[in-house]
Amino acid sequence: MHDVTAAQRIASTVLHAAHERQARRVEQISIALGAMTMIDPDQLTFWLEQVLRGTVAEGAEIEIEQLPLIVRCTRCDSESEVAVPDDPIYHLMPFAPACPACGCEEIEIVGGDACVVRSMRITEASDDE
Ligand SMILES: [Zn+2]
Repeated sequence: MHDVTAAQRIASTVLHAAHERQARRVEQISIALGAMTMIDPDQLTFWLEQVLRGTVAEGAEIEIEQLPLIVRCTRCDSESEVAVPDDPIYHLMPFAPACPACGCEEIEIVGGDACVVRSMRITEASDDE
């Protein structure tokens, strides 16, 4: 997933939620960023600030929690954390994680493959200044 695409998706989630709750301002956005997305948190913050410019979420504090990639092996049934290689090649081709216990590539990703809004703090229209 590209950083800009992820930022646009996050922004749309945030702005939609802000609209639903009639937010006057979005003060803070918490994001869970999985290692498997290969997204650099600094890049994500940068792009998010760009796409939120001119919206109710402009200037919101952006908090990113990085989650490790967790896989479950379908062969030996072990669940392990897999380090995602920091190699630009994986921006061009998919990274195929293998089970660290038995080397099997028939694994299921159980965590760390998403980039989602975890929570946000807003000022509602009815709140006093
Ligand atoms: Zn295994």
